[in-house]
Amino acid sequence: MNNRRKSKKIFVGGVAVGGDAPISIQSMTSTPTKDIASTVKEIIRLQDAGCDIVRVGVLDLESARAISDIKKEVKIPIVADIHFDYRLAIEAVKAGADGLRLNPGNIRNKENIRKVVFACKEKGIPIRVGVNAGSIDRKKYPYVTPGALVDSAWEHIRILEEMDFTDIKVSLKASDVNVMIEAYRMFASQCEYPLHLGVTEAGTYKESMVKSSIGIGSLLYDGIGDTIRVSVTGDVVEEVEIAKLILRSLGLRKEGIEIISCPTCARKEFDVESVVKELEEKTKGFKKYLKVAVMGCVVNGPGEAKEADLGIVAGKNEAILLEKGRVIRKVDKAKIIDLLIDKIKERM
Ligand code: SF4
Repeated sequence: MNNRRKSKKIFVGGVAVGGDAPISIQSMTSTPTKDIASTVKEIIRLQDAGCDIVRVGVLDLESARAISDIKKEVKIPIVADIHFDYRLAIEAVKAGADGLRLNPGNIRNKENIRKVVFACKEKGIPIRVGVNAGSIDRKKYPYVTPGALVDSAWEHIRILEEMDFTDIKVSLKASDVNVMIEAYRMFASQCEYPLHLGVTEAGTYKESMVKSSIGIGSLLYDGIGDTIRVSVTGDVVEEVEIAKLILRSLGLRKEGIEIISCPTCARKEFDVESVVKELEEKTKGFKKYLKVAVMGCVVNGPGEAKEADLGIVAGKNEAILLEKGRVIRKVDKAKIIDLLIDKIKERM
C-alpha cells in the first residue's frame, strides 16, 4: 500500500476522521427517521455489526427533532442528511446531530447558509459536502465527468470557506467506478480535506461488493480516503459487512476470522465448501483477528497454510491441524471442525 494522503483531522462526535485516524465505516438508515423505534433498532444492528458513524435522512422537522431521542438509545455518532431546507439543518443541530451532510449551494440564500454555519460552529460539528451524479447542476455540467464532480464540490466548499468554515469532509460519488476513482484522485491532489469514499447506487449485494471493492479499494490502496460507505440495495448490515472485508483485505482493519481456503480440485479429500461455511457460521461475530486456512489435500495444503495462524488440511483417512504451518494433531475428519473451533476460542 502506498503512503496515506495527508488529510485534516475532523471529529464526527467521538469518531476522528482524517489525519492518522483509522478508516471509519459509515452507513445510512433505511427507516423513516421520525419512526424513532425502528430507526433505533436499525442503528443498533449497524453498530453491533461494526459501523462507526450512521447517517439518517432528515425530510421534515419531526425527523430533525427525532435525532434527540434516537441519540439517547445508540452509541455511534449521527449525521443528519439534509437537502435544500436550512431550517431542517438548524433543527438537526439543535437536536444533537454530530454532523451534517449538506451542500450549501442548494440552500441558495447566503443569509440562511450563514445561519447553518453559525449553528455548526457553535456546536463544533462538521459538514460533509457530498456531490454525486444526481446532485450536480446539469445545466452547468451536462456530463458526469471527474472534473465536473470536482468543480461542483469546490463550488459548495468555497461558500463555506468564505464564511470561515473549514470543518469539512468531502465525497465525490458516482455509480461509474472509473469516474469515481478519477474524481477522488483529482480532488485528493488539490487539498487536505478528509474524504468520504463511496460508489453510489452500487446495486445489490454482489454487484456492490465488486464495484465498491474496486472503487473504494483501489483508492485506499493509493492512500486516499478517510471514511467509507458501501451502498447496497438490501439490508443495511450488508454494507458494513462488505466495508469490513474491504478494510481487512487491505490490512487496514484487523478484526474477525479471516478464512483462506483452496478452490478445491480433483485432489480434494473433504468437502472444503461445507467445512468453510460451517466455520464461518460458528465464528461469526468473533472480534479478535485470526487467519485460518482450510485446505482440501496434503499435496499443496500445508505449504499454502503456512501464512495462517491455524489451518486444517484433509488427508486420505484423517485431517491434520496446523499451527503456522506446523503439524499439531491428526484426527478423524468428522472431528476436525470442533477441534479447530476449540483452538480458535483458546486464542480469543
Ligand atoms: Fe487441490 Fe489440494 Fe490445492 Fe485444494 S489444496 S486446490 S485440493 S491441490
